[in-house]
Order: sequence, then C-alpha cells, then structure tokens
Amino acid sequence: MHILVTNDDGIHAPGIRALAAALRTLGKVTVVAPDRERSATGHAITVHRPLRVRRSADYPADDAYSVDGTPADCVKIAVEALLLDRFDLVISGINRGANLGTDVLYSGTVSAAVEAAILGLPAIAISLADFRDSGFEPAAQFAVKLAHEWRSKELPPDTLLNVNWPKAEVKGVVVTTLGRRRYANTFEKRQDPSGRDYFWMGGEVDKDETLDTDVWAVANGYASVTPIHFDLTNYKLISQVQSWDITL
Ligand code: MN
Repeated sequence: MHILVTNDDGIHAPGIRALAAALRTLGKVTVVAPDRERSATGHAITVHRPLRVRRSADYPADDAYSVDGTPADCVKIAVEALLLDRFDLVISGINRGANLGTDVLYSGTVSAAVEAAILGLPAIAISLADFRDSGFEPAAQFAVKLAHEWRSKELPPDTLLNVNWPKAEVKGVVVTTLGRRRYANTFEKRQDPSGRDYFWMGGEVDKDETLDTDVWAVANGYASVTPIHFDLTNYKLISQVQSWDITL
C-alpha cells in the first residue's frame, strides 16, 4: 500500500510528522506538503507562477517533498508531475485545529483530500480540535485503523472521509453529517500607527447543537467521521428552476 500524506500546516508541522510516522506500519508513505503554513487557503491552486519542489531529508517517511504552493497544488503535483507510482490512498493532516461543518470549504486540509478525490483516489482529511503542538498520536493511530478498514471496503469514487478528533478524552467514534459554523462579530476594526483603519478577521462561532452533526460530536467528546462528496448540485431544486421563465 502506497499512501500520499499532505497537509496545510506545512511539512514541518508536528501533526503531519506524527501521521506519516504512524502510517508506515501500513506500507510505503510519501509526503508531499507545502513548505510553509497554508491554512485557510481552501482549494486554491497556483497558476500564475512556477512551483518549486524540494526533497526533504531526515523525514519520518519513505520519501518527502516540500512544495512552495497550496495543499491542492501538492496533491496535483504528487499525482500528476512527480509520477511517484500509483497512490492507494491520500491522507491530509493531522491539522492543528478542527475542520467542521461549513469550514471544510475554507480548509486547505480538507481541500487537499477533495483534490485527491477529484483525481480518483480514496482520501481522508483528519484534524485535531485543539491548537496544541503535541498529542497527535491517538488521532494518528485512528487514521491507521481507518486506512486499514478502507482497504477491505468499497466507497464510491469522488468520496472522502473528514475526520475530527476531540480535544480531551475520546468517548467513541460517531459517523456524522456536516454541521453549521456561523461566525458572529467576525471583523475587528483597528488603527495602524499611521492612524489608518484596518480590519482583522476573527470572531466567535455559533454552537450548532444539532444531534449527529460533526460540530455536535466534537463538542461532546466524540471523534467524528463524515463522508463527503463534492457535487454541490442541489438536485431538489432542478425541476423548480427549470419551471422559471428564463428561456431565450
Ligand atoms: Mn491548518
């Protein structure tokens, strides 16, 4: 089994090192990850400048490369340019901080896994719901378990699993839907030393207490596994919009 590992926190982040090291029990592990933190870059790709790839020595993987691009660039370049033979699975993470609900659209971690799914490869995104720099091992061991299970199971193509690991002791694993993450007071207005206004995005997030969402699961101490696909079509609205008077 050949596993491609990537992330959006950068190749030197502790989460990806823990993940790569743990996955080596399953087979060959190749890391292709951004050369610096690229969190919250979503599914961006780099098309207006060249991409540089550097081999990374002394890495806990069979092979490792850093790329001066986005997480989606890393997956594309690993699969389509480096031609490192066929990957059986792509795993992105372990991200520092949760990737829940609507935030999956901003997440570089999840977008890397989506890119793998677009390229026809099974993919997992995995995130730790905390901002510490250690303690990734239980989530890494769960990624090994999930990858092992996936080998004997069939999921449809264009599908990925989004995993979020809770901050404290884990009560169990639940399969969830994506919840909502609505931000309030998002922008703080401040002044720079020259007296000009600037805005800093931050803010609080509403709690989605809907049972069986990923947001609920992680808030209540469960590890969350959400099957995701990227067809955003709202099929229920097709016939309704077809009935509009918009013919030419
Ligand atoms: Mn990140």
